[in-house]
Amino acid sequence: MSKSILIVEDEIAIADNIAYALRTEGFIPHHVSLGQQALDALRSGIGHLPQLIVLDVGLPDINGFEVCRLLRQFSDIPVIFLTARSDEIDRVVGLEIGADDYISKPFSPRELVARIRVILRRTSGSLARSAPPTTQTSRFELRQLEARIFFCSHALDLTRYEYLLLKALLTHPGHVLSRAQLMDQVWTDAPDTLERTVDAHVKSLRAKLRLIDPEDDAIQTHRGMGYSLTGA
Ligand code: CA
Repeated sequence: MSKSILIVEDEIAIADNIAYALRTEGFIPHHVSLGQQALDALRSGIGHLPQLIVLDVGLPDINGFEVCRLLRQFSDIPVIFLTARSDEIDRVVGLEIGADDYISKPFSPRELVARIRVILRRTSGSLARSAPPTTQTSRFELRQLEARIFFCSHALDLTRYEYLLLKALLTHPGHVLSRAQLMDQVWTDAPDTLERTVDAHVKSLRAKLRLIDPEDDAIQTHRGMGYSLTGA
């Protein structure tokens, strides 16, 4: 599999540094300087889309946030923002419009490459991000940075315990987890939790999954043993 990475950055020296670090790690970097060039290339680039985009926020034509917002209308390719400001606003705004991570300038190109690897590990093996749902291998997508879980490309509206419970099942696909194991992993701050609390949350989770897919039976009950997740 080619591991091509698109760098969108108007400062040539920074782009060159990133490209060099990527090449030495076996990636194939491509570079454009303008947001519009990136959008044009991604819209027309059927068949050779990059696996990930490194996107500068401070571009001369369209700012990186806007590029990402426009990109998300037609693609789920992972995005890492390069930002000149490390303030919280950048981080929150970036993640809200669908970026996967961000890194503040000045940064070490090696750290950037390490983060790229983390994101690619997380996204490969799950549903190819732009593929139609009919070729599904996984109907779930866990976005830990956003503390959100997507089911069949829909963001689930979960309470904190529902999120933690589904995350616990998702990170052990196909494994039967007992109620006691789930209580240990999910209700860490509530030691007096009862087994029926787990059952109640499984019930509400199932109801939320069935709002999206009425036939869904992703959470399986194993009588006397616990629960497992299929389709993860
Ligand atoms: Ca810039």
